[in-house]
Amino acid sequence: MGPLRNAYLDALGIDRWIPRNSPPEVAIPEVAAAATSPALPRADAPAPTSSPSTWTPHPPTDDWGVLRERVAGCTACAELCRTRTQTVFGVGNTRAEWLVIGEAPGAEEDRQGEPFVGRAGQLLNAMLLAIGLPRETVFIANVLKCRPPGNRDPKPAEVSNCLPYLSNQIALLGPKILLAVGRIAAQNLLATDAPLARLRGKLHHFGEANTPLVVTYHPAYLLRTPSDKRKAWEDLKFARATYSRVIGGSST
Ligand code: SF4
Repeated sequence: MGPLRNAYLDALGIDRWIPRNSPPEVAIPEVAAAATSPALPRADAPAPTSSPSTWTPHPPTDDWGVLRERVAGCTACAELCRTRTQTVFGVGNTRAEWLVIGEAPGAEEDRQGEPFVGRAGQLLNAMLLAIGLPRETVFIANVLKCRPPGNRDPKPAEVSNCLPYLSNQIALLGPKILLAVGRIAAQNLLATDAPLARLRGKLHHFGEANTPLVVTYHPAYLLRTPSDKRKAWEDLKFARATYSRVIGGSST
């Protein structure tokens, strides 16, 4: 373990130890069949009836630039497109095997146009680097591309409006694993109202590609509740072990 990674484990508040032999394997819990997610709404599906507008999603595109432009000009959610500074499309390596999915932009993300910046972003970077993933090697996006005013929870209609964009991003990226950070992201991706404590520590699957999905805490929550950093570290090790198993050829 290099000194840089040690520094990031320190930032996570994780005690480091030196194994006498090789590191222990991370046990992989049973697949949580009941928590397997439904398929995402297709981008060319009819607009949800709960939509606050008459907006109809675009058909999927195979062009990142086209998708980015569509998001930038989106006015599907009347309140959000009026109150946002800009849309926050997502950032990272478009060939990434890891897709990190958060809830929605906060104030700083809305200002900068990039997800997970500020202190929470720095902690997310530390969390990823602790499992060997520099930020630039993953792709990071949110369920919602616009900031809900006052950082309120996304409304169901807003999530329905915006999910086709995430669906298109997943189709373009073809990630090997999804890491859902925070309760809101996990609940919306898995279409459940189960508490985060029941969603973490299990292997879920998501969407038409049945992509493995692991849930962990949002870094903003961990900044407020550092006592849960150790649980987050367990989640990250579980995600890394799941990824290793997926690329080893036995994802389920
Ligand atoms: S949240 Fe998504 S669907 Fe709603 S206006 Fe923003 S980009 Fe469009």
